[in-house]
Amino acid sequence: MKSKLKLKLKLKPKIAIVSLTSCEGCQFTLFDLGEKFLDLMNKVNMVDFRLFEDEKDKGGKLDIGIVEGSPLTKENIKTLLKLRKRSKLLVVLGNCAAMGGVPEIKNYQQGKATIKQVYKHIQKISNPEIREVNNFVKVDFVFPGCPISGEEFLKYFPELLAGNIPTIPDQSVCIECRKKGNACLLLECKPCFGPIILGGCDAVCPTSRMGCQGCRGLRPSGNINTIHCVLKNMMTNQEFEDATEIYGLRDDL
Ligand code: SF4
Ligand code: SF4
Ligand code: SF4
Repeated sequence: MKSKLKLKLKLKPKIAIVSLTSCEGCQFTLFDLGEKFLDLMNKVNMVDFRLFEDEKDKGGKLDIGIVEGSPLTKENIKTLLKLRKRSKLLVVLGNCAAMGGVPEIKNYQQGKATIKQVYKHIQKISNPEIREVNNFVKVDFVFPGCPISGEEFLKYFPELLAGNIPTIPDQSVCIECRKKGNACLLLECKPCFGPIILGGCDAVCPTSRMGCQGCRGLRPSGNINTIHCVLKNMMTNQEFEDATEIYGLRDDL
C-alpha cells in the first residue's frame, strides 16, 4: 500500500510559480479561485510559490515553470534564465510578462523624465527599459490578461499538465460582448479595441461601459488596419498612441 502511494506521489508533475517584478495580481487571481485552485494544486508537486509558502525551492527539474512579471533587474533575469533551464514547459502569467504591461509605458517616455516623477534624486537609481519575457527565453504558453482569467487557468492548466500546449480560440472580445447583449461602444463613437483583441475575459470592460484597451493582446486574425481607421475617427493620434501604450499593445500594431 505504502509503495503504491509513493509511486503516485512521484507521478505528480513538478511545478514552480515564480514572480519577477510585478504587482502579483495574477497570482492573487489564482487564490481567488479558492477551493478550485486547491483541488488543482493537489494534483501537482508545487516546489515554489512564494505567496503560498516560505519553504525554500530545492532546485531540480520542473515539468512546468510559471512566471509572472517583468524581467527588470539583473536578479530577475537570472531567475528567469534558471527557470527556463529547469522547466520542460515555460508558461507566462499575464500582460506584464507577455507584453510589458503598464510598466512598459515608461519605454515610450524619456526615461529620465519619467523617473523624476518618482524619485527626487535619480543618481544610482536603475531605470532599465522594460522587455517582455520572450526577449530572454522561449515561452511555451501565455495566460493573457491583466490580471489573467482564473477560469481560463482552470480550463487550460490541466492540458499543460498533460504535456499539451493549448490553443486559445482566435475570437475577439466582441463575441463575448455581444453574447452579453451589450450595446456596442463603437456605435456610440466611444473607442474600443475589442474587435482585434483576443477574447476570453468575458468582455468585462465593455460590460462596464469601458472600452477594451487590449490587455489580452492581439488575436491572430484581427484586422488591425480597419480598427485603426475606425478609432482614428474617434481619437486624436496622441490619444490613440496613449491608449495602445497602457498594456503594451503599441509594439504589436
Ligand atoms: S499582468 Fe496585471 S495583474 Fe498581472 S502582474 Fe502584471 S500588472 Fe499585475
Ligand atoms: S463594445 Fe467593444 S467589444 Fe463590445 S462589440 Fe463593440 S467593439 Fe466589440
Ligand atoms: S475587455 Fe479588453 S482590456 Fe478589458 S479585460 Fe478584456 S481584453 Fe482586457
